[in-house]
Amino acid sequence: MGDIAVSKQNLHIHSTYCDGKDTPEEIVLEALARGFNSIGFSEHTYNKYSTYHHQMMPEEMEAYRADVLAVKAKYEGKIDVFCGLEDEYFSEVSRQGYDYLIASLHYLDVGDTVKGFDGGLESTIDYINTYFGGSGMAFARKYFETLAQFPKKGQYDILGHFDLITKNNEKGRFIDITSKEYLDMGFAAIHELQGKIPLFEVNTGAISRGYRTAPYPCLEFLKEFYRCGFGVLITSDCHDKTYLDCAYEEAEALIRQAGFRSKWILTKDGFKEVAL
Ligand SMILES: [Zn+2]
Ligand SMILES: [Zn+2]
Repeated sequence: MGDIAVSKQNLHIHSTYCDGKDTPEEIVLEALARGFNSIGFSEHTYNKYSTYHHQMMPEEMEAYRADVLAVKAKYEGKIDVFCGLEDEYFSEVSRQGYDYLIASLHYLDVGDTVKGFDGGLESTIDYINTYFGGSGMAFARKYFETLAQFPKKGQYDILGHFDLITKNNEKGRFIDITSKEYLDMGFAAIHELQGKIPLFEVNTGAISRGYRTAPYPCLEFLKEFYRCGFGVLITSDCHDKTYLDCAYEEAEALIRQAGFRSKWILTKDGFKEVAL
């Protein structure tokens, strides 16, 4: 068994620097109360296509880093604090100087422009109708094909919420996730990313926000990530400190079911594999 105190970590956290509810220090205090001995912040990078303000503006990046470094220094010896970014494929901001980078796709090139799809059920259905002729499969294909291009942007540590397109898809509303057509699209992206992005996350965020009852990715994709030698880590994509370790036990059970016997955590000496 792994040492729970060492291995309980969350590297996918949003604070008031983007669309989270709490300040970095409020989150650190909550993490200490919940027995974490390390966490990492991962604000969304700005992209020019965004029409709603849920990202960190480029001019806020230095203040973000300074604030996280100040909190890190203040709680040194009690908890390790890391400073990362959740980078959008269409973002062009500098990613230098962060402890780690998450590669996440929330926007797609829909022809004349780039549009975000990460909203609620109604807006997702509207998006699929407007840009993909009502075809959830066409939407999924565009998503996975774009996601597979991420390594061309640079080096990333963690692949974020691999099948985010299914956020509002419980009960197969617009994509049959058991179909061969869909699974093959995901497998192709996994194979394309193999050896290029070493880690992926099991992300429980949509459970905490009431969109889903299971984490990303689905079990079939988890098994393929395992077969392809990716390392896994558990995050809650936290936007509210109440959900800092939401569904961690379920996530751990799920990765065991997929075959994993270890997970990865970030330490002061870099990423490290620990037993489940
Ligand atoms: Zn995200
Ligand atoms: Zn996120």
